Amino acid sequence: MTKPILGCIADDFTGATDLATMLVQNGMRTVQVVFVPGPNDPAPEADALIVALKSRTAPVAEAVADSRAALTWLRQAGCTQFFFKYCSTFDSTDDGNIGPVADALLADLGAGFALACPAFPANGRSVYQGHLFAGAVLLNESGMQDHPLTPMTDPNLVRVLSRQTDGTVGLVAYPTVVQGAQAIRRAMTGLKEQGRRYAIIDAVTNDDLVAIGEAAANHPLITGGSGIAMGLPENFRRAGLLPIRTDAGTLPDVDGHAAILAGSCSRATLFQIAKARGQMPTLELDPLSTPDAGALAAEALAWITGKLGPTPILIAASAPPDKVAALQARLGRAEAGAMIEEAMAEIAEALVARGVRRLIVAGGETSGAVVQRLGISHLRIGAAIDPGVPWTYAEGSGPALRLALKSGNFGAPDFFVKAFHEG
Ligand code: ADP
Repeated sequence: MTKPILGCIADDFTGATDLATMLVQNGMRTVQVVFVPGPNDPAPEADALIVALKSRTAPVAEAVADSRAALTWLRQAGCTQFFFKYCSTFDSTDDGNIGPVADALLADLGAGFALACPAFPANGRSVYQGHLFAGAVLLNESGMQDHPLTPMTDPNLVRVLSRQTDGTVGLVAYPTVVQGAQAIRRAMTGLKEQGRRYAIIDAVTNDDLVAIGEAAANHPLITGGSGIAMGLPENFRRAGLLPIRTDAGTLPDVDGHAAILAGSCSRATLFQIAKARGQMPTLELDPLSTPDAGALAAEALAWITGKLGPTPILIAASAPPDKVAALQARLGRAEAGAMIEEAMAEIAEALVARGVRRLIVAGGETSGAVVQRLGISHLRIGAAIDPGVPWTYAEGSGPALRLALKSGNFGAPDFFVKAFHEG
């Protein structure tokens, strides 16, 4: 039985999957846990465990409590290093939750210092002189200044994090970072000795991230975006804690029918449905003419009779913006979403009862509703179908499934068509 080494706490679901994909690509077998486990829940076998929270915009006290509960469970599972994953745009407000959560995790670990680095060059996020850039522009000019929940109006992360903690925040600037792991380690030690609790670390390239990861090999807690996790697996291999794995993303086989459920109305998903339409049996529900979860589910279940097999079927509630607006005007925005999520969850449950074992769900909220209804507790992360969307092996109270959960805007236009060839 492999004991987990790295214990991660992610402040949202897709961020957790992002981090998981990064770790799998770098040779760690990784399991994403869907809900905060109870203290005595057994840990699945993996090199890295990720607890996916919904704490990014939760009230501070709730985010802290959930993160601490996750840490307790990860420590009990045997993890020896911990990673607090937040967004590469440092999504937070002056109240938190990055500072308060990191403060609580450090206190629980009895540690006095952690680095903070959201850089992810592959996605255009870089940090220079403590300032976060999204592509060629500063964070506060990137659109993030208008984010509905976490408007980022200050690109200087030393200041941003300082406002969220009673500790002090220093900077390891680029001229030090380019000198490599040893120089970064020395700089961090210096800041810690000056009494700083955090160091924002500049990073512009993947090489920088690997060097920072190496410099933090002995840190109890690392905080950042998924980019900074890039350098960690090599630390564990160097220390003899992790074998070289070429099969970190290999998932157990499943035997059963294939299906796709789409509840996202994002443009990418609408394209993917259009591409799939001629290539597989497709049912497009019309929630506008049938605004009732039970009736929609019944229509879908009548339609699938005789259609299930190795070729996927597609059931979509998705609609273009004018139809979405019309339904929302009739039912209310939240009520329209909840009604369709309820229908999709019911359809998912019935599909699994009828032998579907390979399932794609399109839409973040839709995925949440389906995962909850199916009683899934954790996802073993496999290879990515498209960036950010891996196949997973989902286990919980029901039968094990191959499951791919797609955030609405992710995936190439032929995602639905090609996904089952790669699963
Ligand atoms: P995304 O990842 O694209 O944001 P989500 O699943 O998170 O997708 O959100 C899509 C929301 O739209 C869900 O609440 C879903 O129930 C709702 N929805 C789906 N189809 C329709 C429709 N035809 N009209 C109105 N709302 C819809």
